[in-house]
Amino acid sequence: MTKVPLPLAPGTAEHPCLALANSIVTLPGGQRVDELNSPESATAWLVMHALAPADTGLLAYCQLRLTDLRANLRNALESRTEGVAPNADSLSGINRALTAVPSAALLRYDPDEGLLRVPSHPTTQLVDHAMAQIAEDAAALLTGTDAHRIAQCASAPCDRFMVRTHARRQWCSERCGARQRANRAYARKRD
Ligand SMILES: [Zn+2]
Repeated sequence: MTKVPLPLAPGTAEHPCLALANSIVTLPGGQRVDELNSPESATAWLVMHALAPADTGLLAYCQLRLTDLRANLRNALESRTEGVAPNADSLSGINRALTAVPSAALLRYDPDEGLLRVPSHPTTQLVDHAMAQIAEDAAALLTGTDAHRIAQCASAPCDRFMVRTHARRQWCSERCGARQRANRAYARKRD
C-alpha cells in the first residue's frame, strides 16, 4: 500500500465519509494514489479507520463495492460544494449502503437440496456494516449544520474534500496552500 504523504484534510478524522472520499488523491505531479487499490489495501483501510476487526480479509468484490461507494460519495460531496443536483445513481448507491440489511439470510437454489436460505457471506456482512456507517455519516454531514462548510481543495490538481475550519479556508493542507501561493507568485512574475 502506498502511503499518502499528506496530512489529513480538516474534518477527515471526524467523518469516515470524508476519509473514504479522500482515499484517492492526486499529487502535485499528477500521480494518482489510491489507498484502496487492492483487496489487501482496502482491508487495511477499513481496519485503520476502525470500521472492521483486525483479522478481516476483504475479497475483490468487497473492495469494488467500497470504491463504488467512494465514487458516489465524491459525486454527492462535489454536488454540495458546487450547488448542483447530485447524480441520481450516486444517491441510490448511498441509499443502498444506508439501507443494507446485513442480517438477512438470502434465498439460494441448490440442485440437490432445492431452495434454501443461507446467511450472506460474513465478509459481505462486515463490509455492509462498514458501508452503512460511512453512508450514515455522509447523510448526516450533507444535511447537517456543517453542510455549508463542505469544500474541495482549491489547489489543483489536489481534489480532496474537507470541512472548512473558517469561511475563507480554500486548501486542504498547508502544503496545498503554499503550492498555490507559489504558483500565483510565479504567474505574476511571468506576466
Ligand atoms: Zn489539497
